[in-house]
Amino acid sequence: MFDKVLIANRGEIALRIQRACKELGIATVAVHSTADADAMHVRLADESVCIGPPTSTDSYLNIPRLLAACEITGADAVHPGYGFLSENARFAEILEEHSITFIGPTSEHIRMMGDKIEAKETAKRLGIPVVPGSDGAVPTEADAMRVAKGMGFPVLIKATAGGGGRGMKVAYTAEDLPVAFSTARAEAKAAFGNDQVYIEKYLTKPRHIEIQVFGDGQGNAVHLGERDCSLQRRHQKVFEEAPSPAINAASRAKIGATVAQAMSEIKYRGAGTVEFLYEDGEFYFIEMNTRIQVEHPVTEAITGIDLVLEQIRVASGAGLSFRQDDILFSGHAIECRINAENPRTFRPSPGQITYWHPPGGLGVRVDSGAYQGYRIPPYYDSLIGKLIVHGKTRNECMMRLKRALSEFVIDGIETTIPLFHELVRHPDVVNGMYDIHWLEKYLGKP
Ligand code: ADP
Repeated sequence: MFDKVLIANRGEIALRIQRACKELGIATVAVHSTADADAMHVRLADESVCIGPPTSTDSYLNIPRLLAACEITGADAVHPGYGFLSENARFAEILEEHSITFIGPTSEHIRMMGDKIEAKETAKRLGIPVVPGSDGAVPTEADAMRVAKGMGFPVLIKATAGGGGRGMKVAYTAEDLPVAFSTARAEAKAAFGNDQVYIEKYLTKPRHIEIQVFGDGQGNAVHLGERDCSLQRRHQKVFEEAPSPAINAASRAKIGATVAQAMSEIKYRGAGTVEFLYEDGEFYFIEMNTRIQVEHPVTEAITGIDLVLEQIRVASGAGLSFRQDDILFSGHAIECRINAENPRTFRPSPGQITYWHPPGGLGVRVDSGAYQGYRIPPYYDSLIGKLIVHGKTRNECMMRLKRALSEFVIDGIETTIPLFHELVRHPDVVNGMYDIHWLEKYLGKP
């Protein structure tokens, strides 16, 4: 096992990783920008290193500075969390070159899944169902038109290097295609420095269902069921639950087994998430995330498995601590992402938290780095906490969530909590009847 882990992240996920390290008896190193000197992840770490000014490119994304921090502190492994460098294959490679373990998959797998076309081709080859679409990149508008007409409208133009919903445009008809094609390319160029795009059939009412997987890197791989993350705004998840109200035990077992088999074939190492759209009883692969995800606690709640601790175990070479048969699903869990944002416009609301009272009680978990008096810096993601609630049934979970939300008080800034008060009372959410467009339609109402 490792002696000292450097956590190349901030906020709630940095704390989450520290907790797993502490339980394993591993010393922790926090890194931080000057804007985060007072952050909880810095206060609770065994050691901390300031790695630069607020701008992420000069701090949390700066590989030479992170390497220097490893060297100064003698860390023997790095956990990247999510976002920042977590899916940067070069970072994983550089660490390995310096004999520091990257707690995650191999750089080869990160690279493979980071390129959407390669990821899709790999999925197809491994027997995972994919969204019908172009065979690889579509270089010109004329090609795009030919592919789209062959497939039928509506179609979605997607950036090969895409992420966070950027570089993605729908063409409902042939008339829309030229503008959708050129704006998707321009957005992709601006966001990723790469204007390559491909085309997929646009599914009009899918749910977003993702499968949590784990591999030991030796060919043993398991799945830990699904998460339903259909409630999204601008392709950003807002509310996640497990199990999905839309699928039954048989389809869970089937898609889970397909994905686990695929991961075993490529000898995947560590935690990963295979994301699907689900429509009319069919799963369509969209991408794979080669890291721990924001919404991992809902899976932890229904399986009782500490996914971050397992990531560290596997990275240390200790193997998987469970087999497929050991994974038992119990009850229902829901996560609400608490963002420092206006609950209607979603405009970020940084500033000082003047009062902080998180909920508690049976089945309630709050993962957050916030505290009373904490000043949320304006430079980073606006996620300030996650409320995760577990119950024996979906009904009990919803009741408990309502109760927990009513206890949660955050003053001084705006948060998304008022939106969740509304959502948990809406019949469609109560009945689990929503697709990936539901939330935007709801928010679009006067
Ligand atoms: P990103 O990496 O930018 O997040 P994804 O491929 O994961 O891109 O897609 C993000 C979201 O976009 C999905 O969760 C879904 O809401 C929507 N989406 C992606 N592909 C399709 C499709 N073929 N049809 C309809 N919606 C899609």
